[in-house]
Amino acid sequence: MNEKIDPWSSKNINNYKHVFKEFGLKEFSDYNISNNYLFRRKIVIAHRDFEKIKQAIDKNKKFIQLTAIASSGNYHLGHKLNIELFLAIKQMGAKCLYGVADIDAYVSRDDKKISSMEQSKKIAVENVCDLLALGLKPEEIYVQSQKENKYYQLTYEVSKKITENMFKAVYGHQDLGKVSAVILQLADILHLQLPEYEGKTPTIVGIGIDQDPHARLTRDVVKRLNYDMEVPSFIYYTMQSGLTEGTKMSSSEKESAIFLNDKKEDIKKKINKAFTGGKVSLDDQKKNGGTPEICKVYEVFKFHNKEDDFLEKTYKRCKQGNLLCGECKQNCILFLTNLLENHQKKAQENKDLAKKIVYG
Ligand code: SF4
Repeated sequence: MNEKIDPWSSKNINNYKHVFKEFGLKEFSDYNISNNYLFRRKIVIAHRDFEKIKQAIDKNKKFIQLTAIASSGNYHLGHKLNIELFLAIKQMGAKCLYGVADIDAYVSRDDKKISSMEQSKKIAVENVCDLLALGLKPEEIYVQSQKENKYYQLTYEVSKKITENMFKAVYGHQDLGKVSAVILQLADILHLQLPEYEGKTPTIVGIGIDQDPHARLTRDVVKRLNYDMEVPSFIYYTMQSGLTEGTKMSSSEKESAIFLNDKKEDIKKKINKAFTGGKVSLDDQKKNGGTPEICKVYEVFKFHNKEDDFLEKTYKRCKQGNLLCGECKQNCILFLTNLLENHQKKAQENKDLAKKIVYG
């Protein structure tokens, strides 16, 4: 049965091949373009029109990278993955801008989740702290509510080019808050190509595959606007799944996600409960080995531990039955605790700067 892609859902996508085929994504194969671990480990899996970006890189021509995430909650490891890809593409020479979508977060989420713009802005401050701690420059970050008039003019122009049928065909519904959020997202992706900013320029957006509906709509609408713009290219990564079976890492599934502000006790509790590829009995595991391919603990290492030697050793020892899940989980707790304690220290040092970016 065909799998629906819903950008707002916390359900994971199981069958990538089907998604590629149904929506016309191409498998990514240009792994020599970067030595970043996301490319080395083939976590980047698909693209639309990456050739345009490759050409710009090869000819040393200007290209833009734009990514935005709604400030609907604290960032978790899934968001970190998106930011790691952003930094990898920046390394390729892109002029970069990262949007913290505070208006999107408020208008597209239920009041029970985000009850006011002020709440969304408070979360935006925490998100900006994380972005700065992960290595983005202040000038590479913006929040939607602080954007210039020209950006808002573009959102209205975009809204004129999306019909009811187009929206329903892509998303399967027409929730008005989500319609507004989508219009803002399109303006996020396209506004740097306005004459007042960079003008017509190849643009790349790195997204999880669940966000593809936005990519399809953007590529459709850009051709209908009264501006001369390049159709944006997209590059897709495998989404990090939640720690329990069948979920993607999502702010709505708190016990299944590791947040960047989680403390040692949270990490310990969540990793100890995580779904693994271990066998039912220790004897069986020692004899036949585990299955790291389906293991959430292994996935944390694969997506966030940049040491190839460690990853390879963990894989081999697991397969050979020389590593048991208890020891492996302890390694994971230690790894995440060190990573996040360092991160949280840096994030807090950036608090004043983050407030300035969000509130002006
Ligand atoms: Fe997963 Fe580690 Fe257990 Fe292997 S040993 S199944 S990688 S937790």
